[in-house]
Amino acid sequence: MYCSDLGEQWHAVRIEPTIAHLDAASAGRASRATIDTLTAHLWREAERGSYVAVREQKEVFARDRRALASLIGHTPDELSYRDSARACLRALLNSWNLPVASTVWVATNEFGPNLDEFERRGLAVRTMPAADVYGHVDVDALENMLQFEQPDFIHVCQIGSGGGVVQPVPEIVEVAHYAGVPVVVDMAQAVGHVPTVTGADIVYGTSRKWLTGPRGVGFIAVRADAIRTVEIESSEAFPAGGLGLGQAVAELLEIGQQRVFRELARIGQITRERLDGIGSWEVVEPIEEPSALVTLAPPPGWQPSDVRAAQRKLRELGILVTCADSWRAPLMNEQSVLRISPHLDVRRSELDALASAIRTMGY
Ligand SMILES: *Cc1c(COP(=O)(O)O)cnc(C)c1O
Repeated sequence: MYCSDLGEQWHAVRIEPTIAHLDAASAGRASRATIDTLTAHLWREAERGSYVAVREQKEVFARDRRALASLIGHTPDELSYRDSARACLRALLNSWNLPVASTVWVATNEFGPNLDEFERRGLAVRTMPAADVYGHVDVDALENMLQFEQPDFIHVCQIGSGGGVVQPVPEIVEVAHYAGVPVVVDMAQAVGHVPTVTGADIVYGTSRKWLTGPRGVGFIAVRADAIRTVEIESSEAFPAGGLGLGQAVAELLEIGQQRVFRELARIGQITRERLDGIGSWEVVEPIEEPSALVTLAPPPGWQPSDVRAAQRKLRELGILVTCADSWRAPLMNEQSVLRISPHLDVRRSELDALASAIRTMGY
């Protein structure tokens, strides 16, 4: 029995997995049509020459660009492609004409490798105040702070890599814009998962996670009217991958994005309710947080190596989840957690199997 009404249809258009795949936050399972779209283009490239094949698909590329742009609240011409979200952030920081000793404000769920990029670029990083122990940005406190001081930009992970908290991005954008501060959103864990039309100035993300597109494709969109100093060259480094992503986005829009977001939020809640407290593992984020990214903190006294061992044991039992170490969200997580990220076709029996497995690994 699927947890969602959409489960059967979503499952039917994919190959049968050999494991309980609860790891969309690492990479979601691509549909057959997405894989076929990608391979069909590779065949065309070998048949006719890559540049010819790309020219022949010009209208498809344009259509795909419009669809992805609409999903993230930008215009098609603002969008450009890279091979990963990380590469998008690098391209942004390299091309953005920021003053020396610039300042960026981030949320507590900031992705560790992003902090490394800021440091590499010599940016001073400051953490925005949190409204609760979960790390949601306190928008009122932020509004107050912005009256006295303005960073060069705010960078926020709409959802981070180490926890399922959804940041209030539209509200952050509103108060930031009132103070004249641009907002950059890392939507690597958010696109295809929660609503991503937020009014932000610059957004970037990746194909392979909740959108279930191919690996090796990232995208960035820079609002043309907001920031004129950023000029990111468009690049079509991996056209077959771009077409695969286009197919994945088309499938999402065909089901209906709001419906998918609603169901993923419900799946997150079902998963948290099923697992919380079992064998002294505790759900980290609020049970009703509207995301399907779920983290479980281990029983007291567990070391990171114990959590890694638990993840390996689960894999041996045929259950794929991630051991999320503290580097993923270093401002927030001190300990390693199990990250469970089911997509639309998760079954009750898979959650039951996970629950009984962790019961024997706790107390
Ligand atoms: C996965 C992830 C990234 C990096 O995405 P890549 O495409 O692997 O570069 C960035 N930010 C967050 C929050 C992520 O989860």
